[in-house]
Amino acid sequence: MYDFAYHKASSAADAAAKAKGKADPKFMAGGQTLIPTLKQRLAKPSDVIDLGGIADLKAISLAGSVLTIGALASHASVAGSADVKRAIAALTVVAEGIGDPQVRNRGTIGGSVANNDPAADYPAAVLGLGATIHTDQRQIAADDFFVSVFETALKPGELITRIAFPVPQKAAYMKFPSPASRYAMIGVFVAKTASGARVVVTGAGNGVVRAKTMEAALTRNWSASALDGVAFPASSCNGDIHGSAEYRAHLVGVMAKRAVAAAG
Ligand SMILES: Cc1cc2nc3c(=O)[nH]c(=O)nc-3n(C[C@H](O)[C@H](O)[C@H](O)COP(=O)(O)OP(=O)(O)OC[C@H]3O[C@@H](n4cnc5c(N)ncnc54)[C@H](O)[C@@H]3O)c2cc1C
Repeated sequence: MYDFAYHKASSAADAAAKAKGKADPKFMAGGQTLIPTLKQRLAKPSDVIDLGGIADLKAISLAGSVLTIGALASHASVAGSADVKRAIAALTVVAEGIGDPQVRNRGTIGGSVANNDPAADYPAAVLGLGATIHTDQRQIAADDFFVSVFETALKPGELITRIAFPVPQKAAYMKFPSPASRYAMIGVFVAKTASGARVVVTGAGNGVVRAKTMEAALTRNWSASALDGVAFPASSCNGDIHGSAEYRAHLVGVMAKRAVAAAG
């Protein structure tokens, strides 16, 4: 039997206030992960705070060289946004490649990033673009946000309100999806920025990771051929029924080259 108090939040401030002082509060965005987790009794929160009615958190805006996406923006709304496509088309590709239409219409960018599934797509984009995660309490650089499997820098009861993406010179995302879930067997996000190249891998191990040797090669020479002979270590990859560590490491190289070629 479920045993939690349900709250419907009317604003971000109201959601944060409703979480404050509770034993084990959980925010609910689209419920795509939270509800199965509750059903399997993997989480037993004291309070569930429903964010679904907070229109402000769904906003997407482009101001100068910063694209800001509200935490409650669905994958479908990101995929369909003209501002996203104009500023960072790689994010359109990320969003439209997640799951299936049902998941894309319910799942949110804030829920994906807070959940930090080690095979999820958005964490690769957030880290790859050097985005900033805004919460009700502070701003967290992507480099400091993703800690480990399903673990982030968020404190209990801390609410993501929006994510700010600096517009890169070039970017692309390439994913080799699991045919069943569409989660990444391996996904690689590449970005060319004024301060150098960023290359982020998802699906390989315990969460998103920057491929520093690839970044150095691409900072010197932004071309797919610059990655010839630059291997991603199999020791950084997990092996499972879907593929060995060596296979995943090989896929990283293939996806990285394709991503750089797609970015142009
Ligand atoms: C069948 C299926 C296929 C999928 N395929 C993919 C895929 O291919 N690629 C991919 O990347 N993902 C995939 N997903 C994940 C999906 O896209 C969602 O992003 C993810 O499940 C989170 O869902 P949600 O946004 O509804 O968040 P919820 O399930 O509501 O919440 C998830 C967690 O985040 C917390 N949370 C939610 N919002 C906030 C917030 N604003 N601030 C702080 N904490 C918050 C919740 O408390 C909870 O712990 C798939 C999911 C399913 C069910």
